[in-house]
Amino acid sequence: MAAKARVDALRAAGREIIDFTLGEPDFPTPPHIIRAGIDALTSGHTRYTGSAGTPALRQAIAAKLLRENQLAYQPGEIVVGGGAKHIIFTAFAATLNEGDEVIVPAPFWVSYPDMVAINGGTAVIAPCDAANGFKLTAAALEGAITPRTRWLVLNTPNNPTGAVYSHDELAALCAVLRMHPHVWIMTDEIYEHFVYGEARHLSPLNVAADLMPRTLVVNGLSKAYAFTGWRVGYGAGPSHLIQAINLLLSQSTTCASAISQAAAVIALDGPQQCVREAAALFQARRDRMVALLNSIDGIQCRTPDGAFYVFPSVAGLIGRTAPDGTVLASDVDVMMYFLEQAGVATIDGTSYGFSPYLRLSFATSMAQIEAGCAALAAAVERCNPSPTHHQEHPHA
Ligand code: PLP
Repeated sequence: MAAKARVDALRAAGREIIDFTLGEPDFPTPPHIIRAGIDALTSGHTRYTGSAGTPALRQAIAAKLLRENQLAYQPGEIVVGGGAKHIIFTAFAATLNEGDEVIVPAPFWVSYPDMVAINGGTAVIAPCDAANGFKLTAAALEGAITPRTRWLVLNTPNNPTGAVYSHDELAALCAVLRMHPHVWIMTDEIYEHFVYGEARHLSPLNVAADLMPRTLVVNGLSKAYAFTGWRVGYGAGPSHLIQAINLLLSQSTTCASAISQAAAVIALDGPQQCVREAAALFQARRDRMVALLNSIDGIQCRTPDGAFYVFPSVAGLIGRTAPDGTVLASDVDVMMYFLEQAGVATIDGTSYGFSPYLRLSFATSMAQIEAGCAALAAAVERCNPSPTHHQEHPHA
């Protein structure tokens, strides 16, 4: 949101900015879902709904979880909110006491630690190695658990790294969790449909069904159906947790938008071709962006297995000098240099708890990807190498 504000301000000042900060699909909601929203308006879905969501939507979510995720939930074990973010926030509000700890693997979606803090908890950041694909290991999880641990937050496919946990990686984490019955799992699967190549999305519950009584599955329609502005997300979990979340929703937002809920039923129950087309589009853009970034001296980019972000290292740019004499000392400096001097907006890894990296979204057109990466390459060429650069990177 802060990056979006920065881009908006520069554009308002007349600058042309290529925006790689987008956290949402760049195409509109599919037409049949828009029609469902219009039909909802004209057919009178304009009143409050039950605070946990309409029966029709909770039924559609239960059917989706069974069909796509092989997870069996009753509608009473499902709660709908104004986005997955709203469900995560409310789940923390419902469960955290002052000082309770939440394990957040880094790099992390920026909102997790702040949502924990706002609700009186303490985020315990568990760094994940780039060499391990930015994924949490069993040993790191074990090391982060204390008697105060309330939740582990897992996000697969991951924002910002695109990491997708495999069956064995999830099984290893679940084996640790099995030894610590007081730790609950919040699994954020909002990017599940955007997995590429051989990668497959799995929920931790697909490998450890026995953990279901202490797992909250979080998901939503925002990414899969280009539905971000409609604001519908949901959680599925044991009924006592769902009731606690619902109690807070009923005294805060009352319910998610009735119109959006009606359209969400059609999105989930209707044809899924639009989701497959979006995934194919993203895969082609991912491949192009990774190739272009890796051709820039000083940037190293892994090919992400999922989501719509790349998370390249900019270690090779640190220490270089910009044409105005500024030394690029951190990924924040690199981000600002690219924004100011290349007209390309990215987000610094520091914001995701992991440096020196940048996050670039490929939820934008191929033309923007080509033009943006060309502008980055030109901006890098205008920098003077750091004195040690060629020794550190003899291949460069
Ligand atoms: N979880 C992750 C990892 C995200 O990246 C986002 C959005 O950027 C969300 C949740 C929030 O999605 P929603 O629009 O459903 O609130």
